Amino acid sequence: MEKEEAQRIKEADVEYVWHHFCSPRTYAQRPLVVKKAEGCKLYDVDGKEYVDAVSGITAVNVGYGNKKINEAMKRQIDQLSFSTVIYASSPVTALAAKKMASITPAGLEKVWFVSGGSEAVESAIKIARQFHYLRGDRERYRVVSRWMSYHGATLGALSCTGHPIRREVFEPLLIKFPHIVPCYCYRCPFGKEYPGCDLDCARALEYVIKVEGAKSISAFIAEPIVGLTGAGITPPKEYYKIIREVCDRYTILFIADEVLTGFGRTGGMFAIEHYGVKPDIMVVGKGITSGYVPLGAAVAKKEVEEEFEKTNRIFQHGHTFGGHPLACAACVANIDVIVSERLVEKGRETSRYLMKRLLELKHEIIGDIRGKGLLVGVELVRDKKTKKIFRDEENVGSKIAQLALEQGVVIFGTKAFDLGVMSDILYLSPPLTVRKEEIDKIVDVVDKSIGEVERSML
Ligand code: PLP
Repeated sequence: MEKEEAQRIKEADVEYVWHHFCSPRTYAQRPLVVKKAEGCKLYDVDGKEYVDAVSGITAVNVGYGNKKINEAMKRQIDQLSFSTVIYASSPVTALAAKKMASITPAGLEKVWFVSGGSEAVESAIKIARQFHYLRGDRERYRVVSRWMSYHGATLGALSCTGHPIRREVFEPLLIKFPHIVPCYCYRCPFGKEYPGCDLDCARALEYVIKVEGAKSISAFIAEPIVGLTGAGITPPKEYYKIIREVCDRYTILFIADEVLTGFGRTGGMFAIEHYGVKPDIMVVGKGITSGYVPLGAAVAKKEVEEEFEKTNRIFQHGHTFGGHPLACAACVANIDVIVSERLVEKGRETSRYLMKRLLELKHEIIGDIRGKGLLVGVELVRDKKTKKIFRDEENVGSKIAQLALEQGVVIFGTKAFDLGVMSDILYLSPPLTVRKEEIDKIVDVVDKSIGEVERSML
């Protein structure tokens, strides 16, 4: 592309596109306008190459430009460009639902298609509420969630989200949903250490249910392994068994938010599988089509949906684009690629190499390296022993990410928001197809960028 044309596009982007969760001033200093992508590589309008170490935004699980997905979408668009699940369906919508049910934990088989993660969370909240309503429990209108979590930007999903900065402007939210402490072992909210802690963070759910009144609670929602807001916080193996028991004891539905962790991201098809526990509803998005087109879903246990069938009541919810044939075609092809090319297993193997290389890094400001599969976080601290954080305005994480970008690697440098502590983190989530030499490039650039910032800080 001509230099002048590239410049014109960047100017139009800065002037007219309202970027999400993004400081306009900071973005304007260094716009990133991607023109094409292949595998794990991005190419901007100036022709500069990058390794995408965040899969777009933890969406492009199979990598960019997969021919099987592209062909499936092309075939579909020539045949049927729209259908609705409100009063009809399409062959590919039915097939996508069946495909989804074939990979979700046994029993989760009723698929409510929407257009993205936030809509999927909204749907799950409403399924839970109407489920109880139909059983005569009309007062169960609140969902418990955790701090240090993200469940979406729409107001219902934001009410569950435990991210103070994203909530602050919109408080009071529509409904005041209770939150429990995060399972943040590196900075345990109880000052304890696993395994001697008795998992107080999981037991906190029962405490909150008792305080708030079980009769007002419909569901508990959690990301099985925390995504961007905690960068790979992974609860101990007993955590979800305790959560499941508590939910069962109080007839509260357990919603697993797998929008970010689903479709092989953490080394299992879904992250909750690592814990041997079944949720009542699973919400998915992002990797359901590897981001090729927007799609999300809430997948409910048969018993949950049966409450609606039994009473012959309509679930009072729905969207124009639910089950869109193009998105469903991408979903079917994407799942076929993940399964037939053994990408969950491949991603798991590659993740061991990524973790090994990261653990070899020697930097005073690396406090914690955590995560599972290809969902990894690096927490940065001023002092390793005391875990003292950097000042907010030092923006250590984003400075490192900016340096990495200049060297051709896209990572996120952001903040983990525990109550009262805003620590800097680096976040990595490359496609499951990432190659060893690309991991080497990612880690070498991260190493160099941390080193540069470290020298300037200490
Ligand atoms: N839930 C989780 C765990 C997420 O990470 C996200 C997005 O990052 C969402 C829900 C919301 O999804 P979307 O951005 O597609 O609305």
